Amino acid sequence: MTAEGTGLYVHVPFCLKKCSYCAFTSVKKPDDTSGMCSALHTEFIQRTRNRNIQFRTFYAGGGTPSLLPPEFWMRLIGAVKTPSMEEVTIETNPAVLDAVGYSALFLAGFNRISVGVQSFSDMNLKLLGRIHSADEARESLKLARKMGFRNISLDLMYGLPGQTSENQKKDIEEALLFMPQHISAYDLTLEPGTPMGDRGEKASENQCAEMYYRIHEMLTANGYIHYEVSSYALEDKYRSKHNSSYWDRTPYIGIGPSAHSFTGAGRSWNVSDIPEYESSVVQGNLPEEFSEELTDEDAAHEILALGFRNTNGVDLKELERFGFKLDLADLLNTGFVKKKGNLMIPNTGGMLFADYLALKAAELLEEVPRV
Ligand code: SF4
Repeated sequence: MTAEGTGLYVHVPFCLKKCSYCAFTSVKKPDDTSGMCSALHTEFIQRTRNRNIQFRTFYAGGGTPSLLPPEFWMRLIGAVKTPSMEEVTIETNPAVLDAVGYSALFLAGFNRISVGVQSFSDMNLKLLGRIHSADEARESLKLARKMGFRNISLDLMYGLPGQTSENQKKDIEEALLFMPQHISAYDLTLEPGTPMGDRGEKASENQCAEMYYRIHEMLTANGYIHYEVSSYALEDKYRSKHNSSYWDRTPYIGIGPSAHSFTGAGRSWNVSDIPEYESSVVQGNLPEEFSEELTDEDAAHEILALGFRNTNGVDLKELERFGFKLDLADLLNTGFVKKKGNLMIPNTGGMLFADYLALKAAELLEEVPRV
């Protein structure tokens, strides 16, 4: 693993209640979280012992990481912190924290908070099985700012069954009233095994595409930069550095149940089962379920799949590094991509159809002679 530019992801598998669409690894928070806190800390030590890793980003996700005590976070951030660390993010659910809670997280060392609002409509929140109300979401955004956070990300969701354009417009308008530094706007994904996924509850594909363009138009008209299919930043400096590093394939370490890691040459992921995770760490083992080295073909597929999802685009020189000299001129005819030097950059529609573009480009991987 390269020592520079590395991110640390910490997966906390606890929530107050499972949302109806959620397939992330999370269970109801136990009364005593000390076993998990200790396992996370131990895994961090296991993975970083005798290595001089200069972390640039730290991201506490889940689950609902703000359910763990601030003292735990303060200790972990203290152990991770390097002079190069620029962004220290925690996700939270509006039902979880009061003013003291936000203040404690800020003092623990987080400089960015991602608030899972999803919608400002109580009807939508109920449909999604969220535990909080719209008023609690409003309050938590105000409290986060009041208690010190100057870099706030707000999550919104669209594509809900029965959601009208008027309803979505209201959500966006209200999000804009808060002018958060960052907005993540996700199209609801139907995950098998979840109540909403199993019932197939979602707006039609056309409605979802309309909603995608609506949010793009309303946010960019208000100064936001649309830099990834679901991500908008108020200024360049507010682009999520941690998530951006996933898209440009910077190495990262993931700790916690189901967390993934990437070394630059290979990927691995941890077991999801919480008791298995904890006991594996306690026994001094890495709690990995699977690890693999990537072939050049794997790397090329990743570059295409990730590159068309964001405005950095696909770097043709990077593909060449893995032996593939692709001529993607045909993609220019789709109207979804433009070429700038070595880069194939998707436009708004291109990011929406990133999977299609990646598939078309990947077909050529089979045909070109290796360089
Ligand atoms: S709060 Fe987030 S992680 Fe927890 S159940 Fe809901 S969507 Fe899943």
